[in-house]
Amino acid sequence: MRKFELLKKHFGYETFRHGQEDIINHIMTRDVLAIMPTGGGKSLCYQLPALMVEGVTIVISPLIALMKDQVDSLVEVGIPATYLNSSLSTAETNSRIREILNGQHKLIYVAPERLLSDSFYELSQRIQVDLIAVDEAHCISQWGHDFRPSYKNIPRFISRLQTRPIVAAFTATATVHVIEEIKSLLELKNPFSVITGFDRENLFYKVVKPTDKYRYLKNYLQNDFVEGSGIIYCSTRKTVESLSKKLKDHGFSVAAYHGGMDSDDRSHVQDAFMLDNTKIIVATNAFGMGIDKPDVRFVIHYNMPKNMEAYYQEAGRAGRDGSKSDCILMYSPADIVKQKLIMNQNMMDLDRHQIQLENLQTLVNYCHTNNCLRSEIIGYFGEVVTADNCGSCGNCLNDSEFVDLSIESQKILSCIYRTDQRFGVNVIIQVLRGSKNKKIIDWKLDKVSTYGIITEYSEGGLRELIMNLIARGFIRMTVDAYPVLKLNESSRAVLKGEEKILVRKERMDVKDAKRKKQKRKTDFDFDQELFDLLSEKRKAIASEKKVPLYVIFANSVLEELAYTMPIQKSQFLEVKGIGEKKFDSYGSDFIDIIETYLKEKNIEADGFESKTAEIYEDVEVSDKNRYEQTHELYVQELSLEEIALKRGLTASTIVNHLVKLKSQGHEITINQFMDEDKTKRVNTVISKLGTESLKAIKQELDEDITYSDIQLAIAHMEMF
Ligand code: ADP
Ligand code: ZN
Repeated sequence: MRKFELLKKHFGYETFRHGQEDIINHIMTRDVLAIMPTGGGKSLCYQLPALMVEGVTIVISPLIALMKDQVDSLVEVGIPATYLNSSLSTAETNSRIREILNGQHKLIYVAPERLLSDSFYELSQRIQVDLIAVDEAHCISQWGHDFRPSYKNIPRFISRLQTRPIVAAFTATATVHVIEEIKSLLELKNPFSVITGFDRENLFYKVVKPTDKYRYLKNYLQNDFVEGSGIIYCSTRKTVESLSKKLKDHGFSVAAYHGGMDSDDRSHVQDAFMLDNTKIIVATNAFGMGIDKPDVRFVIHYNMPKNMEAYYQEAGRAGRDGSKSDCILMYSPADIVKQKLIMNQNMMDLDRHQIQLENLQTLVNYCHTNNCLRSEIIGYFGEVVTADNCGSCGNCLNDSEFVDLSIESQKILSCIYRTDQRFGVNVIIQVLRGSKNKKIIDWKLDKVSTYGIITEYSEGGLRELIMNLIARGFIRMTVDAYPVLKLNESSRAVLKGEEKILVRKERMDVKDAKRKKQKRKTDFDFDQELFDLLSEKRKAIASEKKVPLYVIFANSVLEELAYTMPIQKSQFLEVKGIGEKKFDSYGSDFIDIIETYLKEKNIEADGFESKTAEIYEDVEVSDKNRYEQTHELYVQELSLEEIALKRGLTASTIVNHLVKLKSQGHEITINQFMDEDKTKRVNTVISKLGTESLKAIKQELDEDITYSDIQLAIAHMEMF
């Protein structure tokens, strides 16, 4: 019960946050490794036990700049604490050491660099240390992103204490590698490990792929950002500077922040942000360690970060006060290339490099998943995912429809196969789109059967689909400086048509993906009376000009006029089949008729837009060649006759198509059309008579064998 009293008395809270109580209970008896997200409430997990143990608690923290704040706020709530670091004068240090020796403090914050100093060693021998809290414990790991060599001193320091205290390590980083390193390098004893509370309900996650990032950002700031503050992360100082200038020019309250600025400027910017004098910070990842502003309403990543840890840590700075906040990640393939370049330049050893690339890929996959983003994140951090729709992330709230891109996916997969699984995304895209690039020609990739079989997609659209397939495991991408696409078991299922590939329509609408065309529906209830009036007018004009009726306006145009009833020039011009010229010649005559009619009938002259929208539907431009159209029906497992019927072609033409498709790399078998027994019978006759005369073959066989059966059997032999 004591802990609840302390919680209320010192911290003013009634309840623990998810995971806190469990951690605190364990800290009283054994070592603990707690993995909690940024803002999850780690500090309380050692500050409260510090009050319950007899001796003092040493908090090892890398953030010298924050120690003062942390200690001040403890003192504020009646918890005696102090810190020792390089910012203090000798006199100040000595006086603090005296206070500690007098037993005046429950918590002592130190930087890891100080642990092995003589004076600190001496001090630690003279006091009772019951608990050691290692904050930001991932700093001990070389695999982590903030490696801090002096963290390695911690076990040595502990071993020199007279009795070994309990050691509790805290971090927000949770890759398997890092966790294992923390446990072993810190020499934790049978630690209670817990991963907790990665779900932050008030954060809204979203991945966007705007063709114009700046425009998206500006729109967001103008329309969706009302109060509080926000952080925009960029990957380079240069981007920080140019973006913040641009935003400033557009009148936003912004300041830039990056590691290249001098420290005065930086703290000035930070203060202005904390005091709400600057609303928005545009920064590199140098900004944020310890930023604890409660009302950060959005964190936008203008560039892709390097991995999920970094992303989540930065995004987690939004919404600390529990109010709804946005975490928006702007995806762009160029950023991935950039990150890889940085990784290549800083390559230290191959293993580490490999892990970095894998970590990056995880984030790339996050950008392409159709699943709930929240569950992707918390699942990544090892937490159990309970719901598959959180109802508050970009994917769960996305009600845009899915399109079936199974055929396109099959083409991509067979292209990877046809080029021997030796190339990366770019080459595959070029082959599929039939690029005339010299490299492609030199490598003779224009000779493979899948060359140029996808023409209706832009490069970006195709890349999007390929990335999507990678993210969903239908293609394996090797983790390498030059990643290569490979097939796996799941690819087979797609190739065989056992697995449908559905992709969000909007995802594929990136700029110039599948082209769309509008088509007027034919069945709408236009106003017959008005139609007749318009028709009369048309007749009058036609006979006066001595031209056929349709030269003036086609029937379909009159029908549309009689339905949408346009009365303004702009509306009139929207009707398909009416251009400026026709409007000039006849527009006013027809508008007069419509207007008079509306008045007479007392009809409101609105609804033009919605009526127009009603009678037009989006149709895909049929860029598909005849073979592809056949293929689409083939994968639907229709019979040969059905396909022929639907295509308006003969069965033997369809058979020819199938042979062609097979040669283009499609998975085609005839089992779908003909059972084995039939095939066998036909083959026996063919082996006797050859394939010269279909008629002769037919005569040798029973009635149930059709001409197309024979053709199929022949095709089958040619195909294999
Ligand atoms: P971390 O170190 O994990 O990033 P902090 O320890 O700084 O996070 O805590 C984040 C915020 O959550 C702080 O403002 C803290 O006061 C608040 N907090 C911690 N525990 C609780 C609790 N049990 N109830 C309400 N708020 C809490
Ligand atoms: Zn969700």
